[in-house]
Amino acid sequence: MQVFKFGGASIKDASAVRNMAHILKRFPKEKLVVVVSAMGKSTNALEAILHAHLDKKSTAVLLNDFYQYHHTIIQDLFIESVVIVDKLKNQLAILHENLSGTNNQNYDASYDRVISNGEFISSIIIEAFLQQENFLAKKYDANEWIKTDSTFRDASIDWATSERKIFSEVNKAFKEKDIVITQGFIGSNKNSDITTLGREGSDFTAAIFAYCLNTKSVTIWKDVPGILNADPKKIADAKLYEELSYKEAAEMTYYGASVIHPKTIKPLANKNIPLYVRSFQDPDRSGTIIYDCQIQNHIPCIIIKEKQCLITFQVTDFTFINENNLSRIFTSLDQFNIKINMMQNSAISFSICVNDDWYKLEKLLKHLENDFDILYNKELELITIKNYEESLISDIKHERKIYLEQKTRKNFQMVVKPK
Ligand code: ASP
Ligand code: MG
Repeated sequence: MQVFKFGGASIKDASAVRNMAHILKRFPKEKLVVVVSAMGKSTNALEAILHAHLDKKSTAVLLNDFYQYHHTIIQDLFIESVVIVDKLKNQLAILHENLSGTNNQNYDASYDRVISNGEFISSIIIEAFLQQENFLAKKYDANEWIKTDSTFRDASIDWATSERKIFSEVNKAFKEKDIVITQGFIGSNKNSDITTLGREGSDFTAAIFAYCLNTKSVTIWKDVPGILNADPKKIADAKLYEELSYKEAAEMTYYGASVIHPKTIKPLANKNIPLYVRSFQDPDRSGTIIYDCQIQNHIPCIIIKEKQCLITFQVTDFTFINENNLSRIFTSLDQFNIKINMMQNSAISFSICVNDDWYKLEKLLKHLENDFDILYNKELELITIKNYEESLISDIKHERKIYLEQKTRKNFQMVVKPK
């Protein structure tokens, strides 16, 4: 038994969906759990629809584009498309209904209800297509099995219940089917309200299934050849890691490597299940394997985290920054659920680099404005070089305006203005 995860890019149009089916054909003897994301960029499209609705703007054009996008894929894929177009229409009716129950007061819960429609639609289309192609495949809704708390948009897993449900239901399904299709990214709370696991959370879903089923491996099929030591869109000459340890991979995701969702590694490491990251465009290549290994002397890895905000808290009364000030800042960060990506203190100030989630940051600044003089810069990048070499640091520093930098034995980090 293996788990495969197909992200948005791997199912973004009809030919990509056909390519996915070809990949599945390569594993005829395997029981497969296939976790699918929303197609292409449809999660972003749904966010735009939700925000237009909340801003009381017209959603008609956006909804029509969303419908047409999927309709075009269906027309191309199916010999007989009437039934599946009807299913698409039904799901759009649900989306309309979800939107009408939405307001700014219940934003997070509404977000999850609305956004999950992308995954529901893609799983409906993939199920019908794989059945048309004679796979023994059936779709099961992940929200029935993955149980979570009610932290909408970033739900925590109720592992015991999810494990029980996934284990019994998937094993039951495999008595009749070869492929269990399910949605990534979604779960549900005790009241059966839809929750989501955070953007790009489908990787995590794949790991949850693998953990609960004790599978042989997980494979994430991506539009890159595996895990590279830099984002090839930003740094020329990026190199592939053929092997990585769980620890090395987890640290990369922590610093902002977007190739896999940060929560993916832990459940797999706990059960020693290998994770493969492979190219759906080039399935003959083996890609990267992440497993329990010891590798010395990794080549340096450059991770650029965009949309960062650097905030400096200064004490106002000519005293030095002390533990009491720090504790006040940390308590507030915890209260607003803001994560620090880098921090540094001086005699009279404390600086943090955080994701520019202005909705949360604004609340934090308001909350602390009477205690500190607060300065901030937006639109910055946090660059991390893991396993750095001095020459690489000076190359990357070249012609960049640096706001803050820090070095430990293994890592170099700096907050800079984007080039
Ligand atoms: N569709 C969701 C997103 O785009 C989840 C995922 O793709 O992993 O964030
Ligand atoms: Mg995605």
